[in-house]
Amino acid sequence: MKGHVDKDLCIGCGLCPDICPEIFRMDDDGKAIAADEEIPDDVLDSAKDAESQCPVEAIKIE
Ligand code: SF4
Repeated sequence: MKGHVDKDLCIGCGLCPDICPEIFRMDDDGKAIAADEEIPDDVLDSAKDAESQCPVEAIKIE
């Protein structure tokens, strides 16, 4: 599974890199970006937390 951020929806709140810094970081444009890599099993729970807590539902884990 991989993480994906819809930058058109992201409001740059910074929550997802706080919750799951292994996968999410803030890009130069102030929006979040997800690492283009398979999410390791031990990181999947926190990545899914970020997905569910994003206030604008911009994150998809699939
Ligand atoms: S939690 Fe959602 S709105 Fe906030 S930075 Fe991450 S993707 Fe953007």
